[in-house]
Amino acid sequence: MAILWPAGLTDQSQPGESLRLALRHAVALAEASAGALTLRHDGGADPPASGLESGGQVIAAGISQDDARRLLAALALDPLPEPLDGRPRVRALPDIWAGEVVTLTLADADAALGEVCFLGASGFSARRALMDPFRRRALVGMLVSAARASQELTRLRQENRQLGSILHFSGDGIITVDEGLRITGFNPAMEAMTSWRQHEALGRFAYEVVRLSTPQGAPIGLDRNPLAQALATGKPVLDREYLLLARDGERVNVTVTATAVRSPASQQASAIMNVRDITRSRETEEMRTTFISVTSHELQTPIAIIKGYASTLARDDVSWNADMARERLRAIEEEADRLSHLVANLLYASRIQAGGLKMRHEELDLAALTRSVARRIVARSPDTDIRVRLPADLPLVNADRERIEEVLMNLLDNAIKYSPRGARIRVRGQATADEIIISVIDAGQGIPLREQERIFRRFERVDNVASRRTQGAGLGLYICRAIIEAHGGRIWVSSELGRGSTFSFSLPREERTSAPLVIFGGAGDVEHVTQEGTGDGTDAR
Ligand code: ADP
Repeated sequence: MAILWPAGLTDQSQPGESLRLALRHAVALAEASAGALTLRHDGGADPPASGLESGGQVIAAGISQDDARRLLAALALDPLPEPLDGRPRVRALPDIWAGEVVTLTLADADAALGEVCFLGASGFSARRALMDPFRRRALVGMLVSAARASQELTRLRQENRQLGSILHFSGDGIITVDEGLRITGFNPAMEAMTSWRQHEALGRFAYEVVRLSTPQGAPIGLDRNPLAQALATGKPVLDREYLLLARDGERVNVTVTATAVRSPASQQASAIMNVRDITRSRETEEMRTTFISVTSHELQTPIAIIKGYASTLARDDVSWNADMARERLRAIEEEADRLSHLVANLLYASRIQAGGLKMRHEELDLAALTRSVARRIVARSPDTDIRVRLPADLPLVNADRERIEEVLMNLLDNAIKYSPRGARIRVRGQATADEIIISVIDAGQGIPLREQERIFRRFERVDNVASRRTQGAGLGLYICRAIIEAHGGRIWVSSELGRGSTFSFSLPREERTSAPLVIFGGAGDVEHVTQEGTGDGTDAR
């Protein structure tokens, strides 16, 4: 049986239609002028209520639907006892019908289904048609089987509608095809996945609309199409992974299950395919794998170094002079710092994910903070060259000092890490009417355009020689973005391969003003020294 999709119910066969035909036929057989029939809703309770009482269906032949209802209501008000031999009950209802009204109960061995009334001229009930028990039984039998068929059709239509709703609202894409692979059903999830609208897809070949290729991207031929395979072999195709190429060029990782169905009556085959979008779960899986490999690598390196130095220092067959011992102990300390930084970052990242990042806002002088961070970095690694140039009147912001310090530290550390040793790094700032922008500019290796958005995600690193050489878990920028966005700011990068990168972030001004823009490098700028004690008016170093 075809599945009826709510958007386009096409089946015209009404359950009452065959019953109406049967009633017309019965009226002729009973030699009556008209007839009315009512079916009970509950399908046969004991004691049997009239069809009208149970709110059932009313069918009329030869009289209007309204007259049929009035007639059945009048009969229900004053019911005659039912004779045991099933003989007709005859009445006169002059308000409704000038002649005779004859009622029969519609019942089979299982239950009473309802009543039928025949209307005719006075005395027609005495005719053979209704008095002969065999003809009466045949007449009732015909109406009962028509009623049963009508009830069955109603039930099937209800089920069909329910099934249609399930398919309509299913989160998985569902498509049905006929034996020739032409689409007969296409649900909204399928529309979303393929970018084809239902009305466009119906009637087309399934392989035109649902374009599948192997997970590696090689298109599959008709012989390997899951719907074609299910139809050809009669066996279901279960949970196969494909790449679905949508009409708009989008690629979606999917798993597909296809099953063929053969109708026992018509021997016609059709097939149904369930398409599940697994892009998200695939991403999560990839993230988990990356997490394990990145963290284990990042943890292993410092642990190995610490272990190496510690066991050399512990050797009792070697005596270390104080300088050599201190040098090794310093290396151990550095690696321990690196480990604790990584663990802190991991904790931080999981807190961001759990949505537990809380900011402690305070009035903050971003210019002073930037200079202090740069100074600390230069003090820590004296061969770095950081030049900070900020407008003298950079407005205050309302922000979490520690977190913003972390962002600055991360951006400056990256600029150093991904630039040649000793290369100059510049820090610039500007204020617009709404926000303060700080930029960290390096002349390092740069970042390919296609990676520029990705590197702000968890565990994402650009795969090149420099990042393979440097340590990192790909968490720094992810954390920076979370911090900046939690402040209502933005963070972004502009970069050119081989020429360097500019990482910028903005923070909303504490008080939005309509003051003109303060542009960096303008009058009143001060070039600040980043190494303590070098004096004002010069760059760091
Ligand atoms: P990590 O540096 O620990 O790998 P980040 O999240 O800080 O993680 O950076 C992600 C990636 O972005 C880095 O691995 C690197 O490939 C790239 N990247 C970040 N900053 C720069 C930069 N200034 N120049 C070039 N590449 C950078």
